[in-house]
Parts: sequence; structure tokens; C-alpha cells
Amino acid sequence: MGWSSGGDIFAPVARKMFSVHVSPWRMVGVLLELHDQLHNQDWDTCDDMLQEFPDDPIIRSVLFMGGCIPCRCWEPGKDHKCEEVAG
Ligand SMILES: [Zn+2]
Repeated sequence: MGWSSGGDIFAPVARKMFSVHVSPWRMVGVLLELHDQLHNQDWDTCDDMLQEFPDDPIIRSVLFMGGCIPCRCWEPGKDHKCEEVAG
């Protein structure tokens, strides 16, 4: 059973951190922890956050490191040509 409302927690927390200018590496650390905790609660629509925060490198890094998206250039529903260089 999936849970789709993790974004209702993740997005406001992320927005708050942007608004108070948390440094990027701290933001990645905190959001990655939040992402992991929400995943443990069965949050399965984390890729929605790509639409919520388009082209944001911090959010992309978190989603990638959290295993939510297969690579940093992936977009839901789009034809994908990977820009990530292997090795
Ligand atoms: Zn890619």
C-alpha cells in the first residue's frame, strides 16, 4: 500500500529551509533524513517533488541519493536521455 501525502510534509519543510537560507549541504542532509523517514512510512510518490521544485539541484540530489529517482536528470513522464556520465 502506497502513501502519497509525504509531499505534504516534505515540500513545506523544504520551502521553509529555502526561505531561511539553510546552506545547501545542510539542507541535503536534513531533507535526505526526512525523505528516508517518509519512505519508511511508505511514501511512494516522492518523484512528485521534481514538479514541486523544478530544476532545483538540492531537491534533485536528495531524491537521487534517497533512491527516489534513478539519476539526477530523470523526469517523470518524459523521454529520458541520461546526462549522467558513468565512471
Ligand atoms: Zn539520467
